[in-house]
Amino acid sequence: MILWTRLLGRFIPLKKLTTRGKIFFSLLALVLLIIGFILPSFFKADAPDTEKTETPEEPDSTEIEQVEIAESNYPGLHLEIQTADTDNYHYAVHSLTTDSETLTVTIQNWLTNEKDTFLKEADEYATAERPAHLNIALNTIPITKSTYNLVFNTYEITGGANGISKTKPFVVNIEEEKHYTLTDFLELNEETQDHFTEIIKQMISEDENLQQEINEDKLIQSLSDINQLKWTITDEILTLYWDKYAIAAGASGLIILEIPLENIADLLTEEAQEMLHFEVAEEPTEPEAPDEMEDISEDTESEVLPSDGKYVAVTFDDGPHPNVTGQILQTLKEFNAKATFFMLGNQVDYYPNIVQQIATEGHEIGNHSQTHADLTTISPEQLQNEFSYTNERIKEITGRYPTLFRPPYGAYNDGVIAQATNVGLPIIMWSVDSLDWQSRDPIAINEVIMTETAPGSIILSHDIHETTAQALPTVLSNLQNEGYTFVTVSQLLEWRGDAGIGPHFGSYQ
Ligand code: ZN
Repeated sequence: MILWTRLLGRFIPLKKLTTRGKIFFSLLALVLLIIGFILPSFFKADAPDTEKTETPEEPDSTEIEQVEIAESNYPGLHLEIQTADTDNYHYAVHSLTTDSETLTVTIQNWLTNEKDTFLKEADEYATAERPAHLNIALNTIPITKSTYNLVFNTYEITGGANGISKTKPFVVNIEEEKHYTLTDFLELNEETQDHFTEIIKQMISEDENLQQEINEDKLIQSLSDINQLKWTITDEILTLYWDKYAIAAGASGLIILEIPLENIADLLTEEAQEMLHFEVAEEPTEPEAPDEMEDISEDTESEVLPSDGKYVAVTFDDGPHPNVTGQILQTLKEFNAKATFFMLGNQVDYYPNIVQQIATEGHEIGNHSQTHADLTTISPEQLQNEFSYTNERIKEITGRYPTLFRPPYGAYNDGVIAQATNVGLPIIMWSVDSLDWQSRDPIAINEVIMTETAPGSIILSHDIHETTAQALPTVLSNLQNEGYTFVTVSQLLEWRGDAGIGPHFGSYQ
């Protein structure tokens, strides 16, 4: 008590207080101390629990090593692909999340709606003889370092023979969490609206093809509802998009009009002028291909495998993925295993560093198209582009063209074989389907692979599912115990004596 009163005496003129007063202040001080020191430690003891409940999905660190998430080539954007392949339908949807939750919700809501509508229609019209297809690909056009045009291109077949093509652009600023409207860029009001319409009509009249195709009434009607217009913008061009039938006969397909900004300079808002003068985002930077790369890969592939060996080729499709691919590479390294990655051009654009890592670590890289379209349903020009886009992107990054081709859904026809022959890429199918996309269960994945694998098998799996990465250590360990060595697809084909464009399937059990 004496100690308390001495301490308190420094702050309160205790000498002026009665003994009762001293006791009162001493008790008060004790109460304050309890509140000050003891209660916070109670909350502190609770704190770890609070943090745990906030991140319930965080994996136990003893089960999975710390996952490094690869940087996207486009800051703030993270591209993933959702695929499904059933008897009656298949789809590939490029799904985008961003560093802005608001924008992610906007984009995801649109994607979910597209997918749900497709699944409902597939349920109604599709059969195993006439399966439904949905492909949503994303074209990313940077404006500034946090502002992007995100153009989703949908191709869909449900009922009927003719597919539907649609475009859905989002113009967004990730940092400011802003989804732009056209009026953010153009001063459009009652007075200026006619001027805008005149500029567009003028441009169309100067284009012989467009002039014949476009229905002027429909055009004027579409321009009257600015909020419904589909558009993207760069520091040079405003692009308007109209879906099939919107302003022209169906045969014309998608109508795209590119308006040079100088034509509409007097309509640009201050915000637009300011932003479009911003330094335009740099071209995505590609890591330099190391000089010795070609030699490393050549060495791996020219190695002659003893004919009495037991070989299997593990393959991974649809990547690279920002965190799953890295985990798979780590496991492959631990088992000193070589694998083959069939990549999508759109994914490659986002994660070039992972592509480089795969090549450097001696794995084989195959082409899996640009957008995961069903190649048997698209035009010859599109087909050619699905091959060449991914080929060129991989060459830019690794210094080498891909050595193999795997068609999405394993769907090929004479057109696909002809195109593969043109570019000299063997078509690679599989003999063991891990069904990893369906089960999403490490135990089930392991069971399928162990039951179906034989010497010379090509195993299909996907480096976009966490569960596939989780299954891999057990799968490789079990196969290794059965005497298997893990090789690339090219090594396996050479060993089997399989040459030519194929298609190549690998051995069955
Ligand atoms: Zn695929």
